[in-house]
Amino acid sequence: MGAANASNRRRGTPWRGPTGRTEEKEGGLKTAPTREPHETAGGDTKWQAEEKNRRDPFGELRAGAGAPFATFYLETFGCQMNVHDSEKVAGVLLSRGYQRVERVEAARLVLYNTCSIREKAAQKVFSRLGGHRGAADAGQIIGVLGCVAQQEGEEIFERAPWVSLVCGSASYRKLPELLAELERGGRRVMGLDTDTDETFETEMTRRDNPFRAYLTIIEGCDKACAYCVVPYTRGPERSRRSDLVLAEVQRLADAGYSEVQLLGQTVNSYKDPSERRMTFAELLVAVSEVRGIRRVRFTTSHPRDFGRDIVEAIESVPALCEHVHLPVQSGSNKVLRAMQRTYARDEYMEKIAMLREARRPVSVTTDIIVGFPGETEEDFQETMSLLDEAQYDGVFSFKYSPRPNTPALHMADPIPEEEKGRRLAALQEKQRGIQTARNEKLVGESFEVLVDGAARRNSQWAGRTSGNRVVNFTSTEERLLGEYVLVRITRGGPNSLVGELVS
Ligand code: SAM
Ligand code: SF4
Repeated sequence: MGAANASNRRRGTPWRGPTGRTEEKEGGLKTAPTREPHETAGGDTKWQAEEKNRRDPFGELRAGAGAPFATFYLETFGCQMNVHDSEKVAGVLLSRGYQRVERVEAARLVLYNTCSIREKAAQKVFSRLGGHRGAADAGQIIGVLGCVAQQEGEEIFERAPWVSLVCGSASYRKLPELLAELERGGRRVMGLDTDTDETFETEMTRRDNPFRAYLTIIEGCDKACAYCVVPYTRGPERSRRSDLVLAEVQRLADAGYSEVQLLGQTVNSYKDPSERRMTFAELLVAVSEVRGIRRVRFTTSHPRDFGRDIVEAIESVPALCEHVHLPVQSGSNKVLRAMQRTYARDEYMEKIAMLREARRPVSVTTDIIVGFPGETEEDFQETMSLLDEAQYDGVFSFKYSPRPNTPALHMADPIPEEEKGRRLAALQEKQRGIQTARNEKLVGESFEVLVDGAARRNSQWAGRTSGNRVVNFTSTEERLLGEYVLVRITRGGPNSLVGELVS
């Protein structure tokens, strides 16, 4: 099977819509262009596990015997940053001699890496913990990591006394010490600092996705959006040195990864702490130039810090993917102000115009919250009109969820749940129409696709374009996983494309 040419589309052809999967999640339908089609919260399919073992340089090979708990089970909730944190946590455990198991009952150490961005996500964790009531009798050690750990702190021990470890993401660098304490028989072991300048570096990061390597370049957040727990749960912004980032990218390329995704809650707010003082755009270019790297993605960008230099980098470097995720949250200036988003609608739309006018056709996706306190029908209609104007290629949309420790929690004029639901449904219906129309225009175009999913029985394959659209196609070829192929689009749906193999 030959790989496709690097250029996935004829020059000068008009822009096309992205596509993602649509899924029901915490507050509504999400068009999910940035998640993997095959990704699950906990495990992999058999073929993925096989592929992972083939490609993962660290994998289970590091596991040995000798650690008191010996086996661990780790389940992840939430965003890609959590997914990648879990990879790093697994790396630390494997290096201490633990062995990963896929069944929770088979583990001595059970860890949940949690998300508290919306209430439902946090509730899910407590319902999981409820299932471990007799953990101590069964000889299991239960730990809560991530945002719920940071948010609830010691409270978790009160609500679920069978939990032994509570550790927020800003304390992961302490994980080896905390594990040592647990191994010595410690109960109620905690890591809840947020006042750290350090990022979570580990020598061995186990990668769960065999095709795309995640790499956090900036942790925490210094913005103060009124609805958001992240600055509280993940602490202040800390960037990784550019030389360490580049060295890790080279190691990933040497290990067989051709696609990397740079991560940060506000990835483009990156500030290189090394003497080189690379800008974010310079870092993007440098990562793209690493030998063996063919695709570079980054998420999430904050509109305020999104400059022309990033667009120029995408225009001039083919390895930089044609996709920008630029959360707007609302189309109403009044709501944007109340949310403390630090930009107005027209400032945001100037960034969209910059992207739409780029010399390469860039796919643009966004996040939207409906039903923020005080959002009137008029405000909501401004968000609806922004959808028309921006013509997004994918939207993650959520009902506002009141969160502890956030300024919005006590804001006046809460919107009833039923009304939030109505607005969410209306917004999603409108966006579905926009995406369908954009995707239908792609029919006849050819795209380079990195194949990352398969259903072997009926020769169905799936992959992603540079613009992060999901493309499904049929081929009797035996080994397409991990290959770059050229696919001609034959049909466009709201959330994915169907095509046929060209090469
Ligand atoms: N840093 C990113 C940014 O500035 O847009 C967003 C990170 S946040 C983990 C992902 C998305 O969750 C946000 O863009 C927002 O749409 C949504 N979100 C955050 N807090 C929320 C809340 N309290 N209720 C509903 N949605 C929320
Ligand atoms: Fe949350 Fe705003 Fe920071 Fe994004 S920029 S993580 S929404 S506080």
